[in-house]
Amino acid sequence: MFFLFGLRSKDHVIGTRVMTCEICRWEAPQQIVRRSTKFTLFFVPLFPVKPASHYMVCGHCLGFRRADPRLIAA
Ligand SMILES: [Zn+2]
Repeated sequence: MFFLFGLRSKDHVIGTRVMTCEICRWEAPQQIVRRSTKFTLFFVPLFPVKPASHYMVCGHCLGFRRADPRLIAA
């Protein structure tokens, strides 16, 4: 008998804001992305293994960076 288990991370876009990018310094739409990681059994996601993390993706340079927690609360 064998078990296929592992972790899977999935990104969800939860919003977009026009801001100045910290990487390229352009004012461009910044996507706010929520990443959740779940335990999988036979490729079926079952339960989260750690708290979700939030990131921002620049629409100009596609730079990927951690989001400021104050932006997510607003
Ligand atoms: Zn940028």
